[in-house]
Amino acid sequence: MALTDTLGRPIRDLRISVTDRCNFRCVYCMPKEVFGRDYRFLDRRELLTFEESERLARGFVRQGVQKIRLTGGEPLVRRDIERLIELLAAIDDVDLTLTTNGSLLPQKAQALHDAGLKRVTVSLDSLDDEVFRAMNDADFPVARVLEGIEAAAAAGLEPVKVNMVVKRGVNEDSVVAMARHFHGSRHIMRFIEYMDVGHTNGWRMDDVVPAEELVARVDEELPLEEVPPRYRGEVATRYRYRDGSGEIGLIASVTRPFCGDCTRARISAEGRFYTCLFTAEGHDLRAILRDPALTGDAAIEEALAARIAAIWRVRDDRYSDLRTEATSSVLPRIEMFAMSG
Ligand code: SAM
Repeated sequence: MALTDTLGRPIRDLRISVTDRCNFRCVYCMPKEVFGRDYRFLDRRELLTFEESERLARGFVRQGVQKIRLTGGEPLVRRDIERLIELLAAIDDVDLTLTTNGSLLPQKAQALHDAGLKRVTVSLDSLDDEVFRAMNDADFPVARVLEGIEAAAAAGLEPVKVNMVVKRGVNEDSVVAMARHFHGSRHIMRFIEYMDVGHTNGWRMDDVVPAEELVARVDEELPLEEVPPRYRGEVATRYRYRDGSGEIGLIASVTRPFCGDCTRARISAEGRFYTCLFTAEGHDLRAILRDPALTGDAAIEEALAARIAAIWRVRDDRYSDLRTEATSSVLPRIEMFAMSG
């Protein structure tokens, strides 16, 4: 019988964080004041090896996972990431994708595709260098990310989705320019409500630009119509341009939470399993992978699959449904980059 949680949700998507390190310091994710020189990132021994990640992925696939997304931190700063992609691409019937800030795509896109990656999502919060810097606190030109997006498309990692997190008063004026830039291209722009993940971004409801407002802003310049979801649990609400030149997506995790359909599992870079983006409690699966009492691949995979099922079966998370301004400051949470955004 298919594995479901206490709310009847199956386990379909797995996000694997391959590193907790990043070459950007986005103010809403890894602010420099906290993740500066003195911050202790995981050392190499603590990270899952590629073989361990593959074994883990196979355990999840046995329980129903159909889609794997590599993320981080910045996944492309993990050395030889192509090797992990090769291992994961060899798993049958899995849709393999990756989320990146795009900074290393110009030189890596082709190798990622050749290793078996299907698509990429690139995060880009503005086309204006100054606003981009205000969001990511790194001295990195927008032009280079755009180059990365084109390199990904040229390598066949299509369609490229472009994610923009919108923070009130910081990059909200870039919304229409971003829509215009990608309108008529093969890339799909997705606007994301700024979320209250972690403790360090100082989130306030006032910083959120609601999806409804984002759609209205784009619609005013480039008329839109809503598109019905393709499948249950589709995270982005889709809109197409009335002139027929493509579509955009809205991820309204704050104003229109989608916990009821959440089929996502997350693995941190050191092998902890999280059943919700907003939970502080992870389950250590690395201990199973490194258990000397378990000999042979089959025994480890068996033990993993059993542990995954035991955790998923009792899952009852629905943080965003329950979110209020009060709870967002009270409930303990872990940072997004640490548990795989
Ligand atoms: N470094 C990669 C990147 O930049 O895409 C992958 C990791 S990053 C944590 C994954 C996605 O999470 C990015 O699109 C980022 O913008 C988004 N993100 C991080 N913190 C967020 C927040 N507080 N609210 C909404 N989205 C957030």
